[in-house]
Amino acid sequence: MQTIGLIGGMSWESTAQYYRLINQRVGERLGGLHSARLVLYSVDFAEIEDLQQKGDWTRATALMVDAGQRLKAAEADFIVICTNTMHRMADEVEQQVALPVLHIADTTARAIAEEGIGVVGLLGTRYTMEQDFYRGRLQTRHGLRVLVPEAEDRTFVHEVIYEELCRGITRDESRRRYLDIIDDLSRRGAGGVILGCTEIGLLIGSEDTDAMLFDTTTIHAQTAADRAVDLR
Ligand code: GLU
Repeated sequence: MQTIGLIGGMSWESTAQYYRLINQRVGERLGGLHSARLVLYSVDFAEIEDLQQKGDWTRATALMVDAGQRLKAAEADFIVICTNTMHRMADEVEQQVALPVLHIADTTARAIAEEGIGVVGLLGTRYTMEQDFYRGRLQTRHGLRVLVPEAEDRTFVHEVIYEELCRGITRDESRRRYLDIIDDLSRRGAGGVILGCTEIGLLIGSEDTDAMLFDTTTIHAQTAADRAVDLR
């Protein structure tokens, strides 16, 4: 089994889910007392969030590369960045650390393709919904048409992530508005909706809506576990 290198702490609320999901999947695959071989480098999220807000992606990239190098030194075989937003610099991490990065958008796009869906809604941070690194990759590499919420709804989705979900707070009122936004994306033609922020699964799940949801945390964590088990 390969050793998974996790860059986590963005936020730790979702990294805790990754740890559980990866170990559960390895246990299911291998049985008995099997669990994952992994190393985790967990950042101070306040520092990262500050750089995001300032738009200092150069410094943020340097921190992600540094985290990746620490994982390589700890003998990780591949890297899992436990956030959608910080895939903005996934290519730089892969090149500068010289380890494969299991890209969250690619794993999600494969799950969407398996369902035969071509038009998909995307919820995430403002950076993920508005910048090209994520939508662009889904569109150009995977041929998906990506719909995002209207401006006011994007602001709401973004603020709930940083003010509530990354702090371990889940509110019914926020859940209801997220579900309204999902309904709106479905009405506009989305055949499914990507929960493109690793904390959104803490707020909503498939039991809350008829829309087909693609929870990036679950998909990414399970794919990482499968890769670790399959590649020896
Ligand atoms: N975990 C979130 C994501 O998947 C947001 C936190 C971050 O900015 O990294 O995008």
